[in-house]
Amino acid sequence: MDNIVANIEAIRAQLNSGVQLVAVSKLKPCEDIMTAYNGGHRVFGENYVQEIKEKYEQLPKDIVWHFIGHLQTNKVKYIVPFVSCIQSIDTPKLLSEVNRMAQKHNRVVDCLLQFHIAEESTKFGFSLQEALDMLNAPEWKQYAHVRICGVMGMATFTDDKEQVTREFRTLKSYFSRLKAEYFAQAEYFKEISMGMTDDYLIAQQEGSTIVRIGSAIFGKRVYANK
Ligand SMILES: *Cc1c(COP(=O)(O)O)cnc(C)c1O
Repeated sequence: MDNIVANIEAIRAQLNSGVQLVAVSKLKPCEDIMTAYNGGHRVFGENYVQEIKEKYEQLPKDIVWHFIGHLQTNKVKYIVPFVSCIQSIDTPKLLSEVNRMAQKHNRVVDCLLQFHIAEESTKFGFSLQEALDMLNAPEWKQYAHVRICGVMGMATFTDDKEQVTREFRTLKSYFSRLKAEYFAQAEYFKEISMGMTDDYLIAQQEGSTIVRIGSAIFGKRVYANK
């Protein structure tokens, strides 16, 4: 698809200079990633462990991989050797396991805490209280191999722009609270990952620093019993 590079450029033109674009390439072939890569793009997001691992092995090593899907603790070991950022930390146990595996590989992995901000019950993520409970406990402060860089969330899949705006505002308020209470001295705690194909302009308006965009770059995905 020749449009891929043009799509990225069109999206970039709408984004403020500080906002990072993660191109979500899940279920898309390596050729599509290479098209974007040859157009100069380097940061890609994937949802499935097996798929990101295979793509990592086949593709250029200067690609920056973000894992954005639900991650089971027993699969952390497959992605920790190469992934730059895990955006979908949704339990204390998962954060602990990423730290443990990253230590084995002598790495520090950037992580975002995923919050449940949508109305749908199917989306993963911490509630504010669960995150506060984790951060109030002493364990995470010992983790030398993860760096908590901010928050991530997905809005409800709806045409109701006010609802989406409200949900992004909620995520931003969680970010601000965590920043003030736990990360005031941590200059790296600065990321708010929100905004996808249908809502990235609203997300940007509400303070997003990372948008994760798939279909608007690579076209619609076909889900074959995944
Ligand atoms: C698939 C996915 C995206 C990209 O979705 P589009 O609507 O295709 O832009 C972003 N974030 C997460 C967590 C995803 O699973």
